[in-house]
Amino acid sequence: MAVKEPEITLKRVSHWIGGRLVEGNSGRSGIVWNPATGQQQATVDFASVEELDAAVAVAKEAFKTWRQTPLSRRAEIMFKFRDLVDQNRRKIAELITLEHGKTIPDALGEVARGLENVEFATGIPHLLKGGYSEQASRGVDVYQIRQPLGVVAGITPFNFPAMVPMWMFANAIACGNTFVLKPSEKDPSPSLFLAELLQQAGLPDGVFNVVQGDKVAVDRILEHPDIKAVSFVGSTPIARYIYETGTKNGKRVQALGGAKNHMIVLPDADIGMAADAAVSAAYGSAGERCMAISQVVVVGDQTADELIAAIRERMSRIKVGPGMEEGVEMGPLITREHRDKVASYIENAPKEGATVVVDGRQDPIAQSEGFFLGTSLLDHVKPGMKCYDDEIFGPVLGVARVKTYEEAVRMVNEHPYGNGTAIFTRDGGAARQFQFEVEAGMVGINVPIPVPVAYYSFGGWKASLFGDLHMYGPEGVQFYTRAKIVTSRWPDPSTSKVDLGFPQVR
Ligand code: NAD
Repeated sequence: MAVKEPEITLKRVSHWIGGRLVEGNSGRSGIVWNPATGQQQATVDFASVEELDAAVAVAKEAFKTWRQTPLSRRAEIMFKFRDLVDQNRRKIAELITLEHGKTIPDALGEVARGLENVEFATGIPHLLKGGYSEQASRGVDVYQIRQPLGVVAGITPFNFPAMVPMWMFANAIACGNTFVLKPSEKDPSPSLFLAELLQQAGLPDGVFNVVQGDKVAVDRILEHPDIKAVSFVGSTPIARYIYETGTKNGKRVQALGGAKNHMIVLPDADIGMAADAAVSAAYGSAGERCMAISQVVVVGDQTADELIAAIRERMSRIKVGPGMEEGVEMGPLITREHRDKVASYIENAPKEGATVVVDGRQDPIAQSEGFFLGTSLLDHVKPGMKCYDDEIFGPVLGVARVKTYEEAVRMVNEHPYGNGTAIFTRDGGAARQFQFEVEAGMVGINVPIPVPVAYYSFGGWKASLFGDLHMYGPEGVQFYTRAKIVTSRWPDPSTSKVDLGFPQVR
């Protein structure tokens, strides 16, 4: 008699609509992998147009009462949510690591940076204050109020499944909007847990909804007449598409795209410090960060030789393995396909004229079942090579050698991406010159990953951002509200008369 294989029931990740889990009924779903083992660990429902519409209808209904909720109550809910996220840091981090693969300390860092945005949103009563001009004309006062937009949507990438949603929904909700989140289908669970925590914090049902899915859900978000604004974070081709389609349909859109972040190292830099920074920023989270340093530009051959030696020495000590394991510093990549794509850049680099100094494909871990690749270092990388022009989004660091500071800055400015950049030097004048002329949205001076704190805003330039307003912080509040200017006069019959002239203020 044949022995029957035991049936393994896979976890099913569903939607969160109207304050409860709702199983999808479209019949379509995706695979959620465990990148550390290479095994499927769950399925994720993919929403149909009708299911997306149902979530928007719930959010639209919830908006009617949510926008009337006093500011103090909204702030109180944000405070409670802040405490719940704080108490559940470890649990959120584990959910991230299981599906994304990054290490637990890295995932805890993600939660902490997301939490900052919730803390910022607790100040919403202050943030929504408008201006008031008394006596703009005789007996006339003029003032500005900022009002929520209605239902707004967020579409988020795989690489920060908790932080990027918090970048968006904390401010959006605190401003009085209701929210529909379409998380990455690759790691969809953390957002459902955040939805539960929001409910526990006292957020009324329907204010925050999660719709899992793919292009079908995204396209419906872009055309749904009741969605007033769309925040997107992801790759540049999709960001451009989201911006063009969303704005064509009359929506307010902020769409953040990909990056190629350059780190310039001048000859006077502290080589040890620059190497520490380059290694941390290039290989942290396996290079799957939009603010990762993927390209070092070194001024002078001697500095380049010294820096490469210092980087190699540090690379040899990085512990690569499953993110859940104690002591591991770098986890796997998100999928097998992505790992292979990253590996193809290393394969092609010598054909393009670059030198492979360290080849991550040779690391024994690259042969395991998980989606692993060791760390790689390429030298003599130049514009025109694919390994320079493209965002690789993996643990591959390129080094370019130039003769002058001017040449280095020109490289940064001529690259189509302009998310973040950094300079390493002891020369304050050179650093100031760099800050003045470099074309990127976020600049680090001896800081390799200059992600702004939550009370500033996050955004790149050029092909790294489509739209006007950056994400979170003061610009986030601006994005999720619209201004209304009121000009008011209280009746004073003694001064009233008919006057057909154009109103003047003096
Ligand atoms: P992605 O563009 O593939 O996906 C992002 C979102 O868009 C996901 O929710 C996905 O489901 C959806 N999507 C994918 N293809 C689509 C299509 N054809 N039509 C409609 N929707 C689609 O990005 P990713 O691989 O999840 O994330 C990595 C990218 O995100 C990198 O390029 C990285 O630089 C970028 N990123 C940028 C920032 C930033 O702040 N600028 C932050 C994090 C990540």
